[in-house]
Amino acid sequence: MNPLDFLFPPRCNHCQILIDRHYPLCKECQSHIELAPIDEQSCSYRATHCFERDSPIKSLQCKACHPSIAKLMASFLIVQLKHLSHDPIESVYILNSRSEPLATYCSRFLKVPLNRKAHERCILIPSIHPMSPKEKRRLAQKYPRAIVHLSLFDK
Ligand SMILES: [Zn+2]
Repeated sequence: MNPLDFLFPPRCNHCQILIDRHYPLCKECQSHIELAPIDEQSCSYRATHCFERDSPIKSLQCKACHPSIAKLMASFLIVQLKHLSHDPIESVYILNSRSEPLATYCSRFLKVPLNRKAHERCILIPSIHPMSPKEKRRLAQKYPRAIVHLSLFDK
């Protein structure tokens, strides 16, 4: 047993029950993780979120910058991306510093560069929360061809 486990016993980040290993969520909470259904799309701007507000994953929101949590979140995001019809992703865009670990893992998983300067045909913008209307306008001007925006949460 890790001595730190004695002082800080590992707990599920959602329901707080004691768990025997340092997983972010207990088995019961993991079994309630579902990806959100996909709706509204235009051809140049596609956006959706991964999790509904009552998802146990929401309890990990404040840890989304932590590398192991960002990696987990990025893997869900890539699964959700497969459910969305889109052109091949050619670059991953870092929206802000909080979304940077998420964007870094997405670019590794997709094997595409981060923030490439050229105006790609299709960029993926992963983020924790949806973009503001101002951010959307700014990016639609910068990348007029195609943007796929995936946020973890809808708020
Ligand atoms: Zn739990």
